[in-house]
Amino acid sequence: MGYVDEVLVKVKEKNASEPEFLQAAEEVLESLRPVIDANEELYRREALLERLVEPDRQFKFRVPWVDDKGQVQVNVGYRVQYNNAIGPYKGGLRLHPSVNIGIIKFLGFEQIFKNSLTGLPIGGGKGGSDFDPKGKSDREVMAFCQSFMTELCKYIGADVDVPAGDIGTGAREIGFMYGQYKRIRSVNEGVLTGKGLSYGGSLARTEATGYGLLYITEELIKCHGESMEGKTVAVSGAGNVAIYAIQKAHQMGAKVVTCSDSTGWIYDPEGIDVALLKEVKEVKRARLTEYAAMRPSAEYHEGRGVWQVKCDIALPCATQNELLLEDAKQLVANGVKAVCEGANMPTTIDATKYLQENGVWFIGGKAANAGGVATSALEMTQNSERLSWTFEEVDAKLKGIMVNIYHNIDDAAKRYGMEGNYVAGANIAGFEKVANAMLAQGVC
Ligand code: NDP
Repeated sequence: MGYVDEVLVKVKEKNASEPEFLQAAEEVLESLRPVIDANEELYRREALLERLVEPDRQFKFRVPWVDDKGQVQVNVGYRVQYNNAIGPYKGGLRLHPSVNIGIIKFLGFEQIFKNSLTGLPIGGGKGGSDFDPKGKSDREVMAFCQSFMTELCKYIGADVDVPAGDIGTGAREIGFMYGQYKRIRSVNEGVLTGKGLSYGGSLARTEATGYGLLYITEELIKCHGESMEGKTVAVSGAGNVAIYAIQKAHQMGAKVVTCSDSTGWIYDPEGIDVALLKEVKEVKRARLTEYAAMRPSAEYHEGRGVWQVKCDIALPCATQNELLLEDAKQLVANGVKAVCEGANMPTTIDATKYLQENGVWFIGGKAANAGGVATSALEMTQNSERLSWTFEEVDAKLKGIMVNIYHNIDDAAKRYGMEGNYVAGANIAGFEKVANAMLAQGVC
């Protein structure tokens, strides 16, 4: 039995109750097969894969807090410190009722490779709780965050482990957690990212994921001898990633003709009006029907349908599993050239395969949406320097990072005879750096 298969058998035996983690481990190890086969003897002797799939450590703790009725509530908190071979653990805190140790491990494992791809010194970690901030008062959210941080603060630090936001953890929650950390530890340090601008947050973090997506897409297109100028782009979603992706695409001379939310989608042949979209989504927090009502050139459609529109470039920026096989077939039939993922896992596995087999240039989220975490790492740098960079400085660094990611994943795919397979290239490039650091640091 080959080394990958041997390790997968052990992983399945040891983690049978964690399906999400098993899926992630299997997907990553499968795509790394060429690299692992080429170094099998060394990696096996060093038990490299066994060490990679086992977190450095994981914490599970009780989070008691008092609700507005005076009732004590108890949630479970988690932090998985997965791998710090190349830098302090870094990864978000998810607050959602679905959170369990398997989900946190799956996200933490994936984070190792995404963080490595940025080229910045950040390891992989993830955390969170089964607490649901939806429907809670500000005071209840603060009570939870303070209790959560009272325990978490024992395990994190600016050079140790730097959590960030994720689903359910926005600026409000990060603020409450940061306040409690400071109160207990008496230090002002970059222990969390996604902070408010007045207390250590970074300019351009809001725009980073959408802008980063366009920087890597532009490089991809350029390296195939074309330009963004005049291209028709289909975007899904109307949230943080989608809005700034649309804005940057327009700045590059492309025309974005679609966007969507969880109830419907817009086709606007004149090009999406970003100022109006921001007004509808960021200020009024309204549905897209409101956009259509104020924009004569726009058509509103109920349900899903963004991928039916003829386009040169498709950028899924909404949610997981939103680009299905039938969508991939329609996109190919309409002559799409590139699909780059702004969201996490928006394209199903069969759709990805179909796009790749039909010559579409496809960059997965691990590489294409890494601009968010990269800019979080730039926030850490600014905090360590006790300086705040201008928007232009952060943006220029973000662009450099995304262009670099493109060339790294392209080179990695070519080195293993899989030219143009940017998904495999991303896993390989992310893995190689971590593997080399682990080997250099001996058995630990
Ligand atoms: P937001 O919550 O700001 O926006 C998500 C958007 O997608 C909303 O417009 C939402 O609609 C829409 N949406 C949700 N479900 C569906 C659906 N089933 N069909 C169509 N549209 C849907 O999230 P973000 O923009 O921050 O994140 C989007 C994706 O990008 C996620 O997968 C996230 O994990 C990923 N990501 C985000 C990063 C960041 O920095 N923000 C970094 C890396 C990845 P509605 O308005 O109705 O809620």
